Amino acid sequence: MQAPKRRTSRSKRNKRRAHDALTPVNPVSCSNCGEPALPHRVCRHCGTYRGREMAAARE
Ligand SMILES: [Zn+2]
Repeated sequence: MQAPKRRTSRSKRNKRRAHDALTPVNPVSCSNCGEPALPHRVCRHCGTYRGREMAAARE
C-alpha cells in the first residue's frame, strides 16, 4: 500500500475544502396548496406542477 510521504498542511487542506460548502435550498410556496416546495419540481404535498396534477406523484 502506498502511504503519503507528507502530512497535508492546514493551508492546503483548507484550500481544498474552500469549495465544499453546500448551497441552501430555495423553498418556494406551492401555487396550489401554499406548502413549501422545491422550484421546478412537482409539489410533494399536493402533486401538482404549474397548476396541473401529475398522476405519477400520487401516493
Ligand atoms: Zn402543493
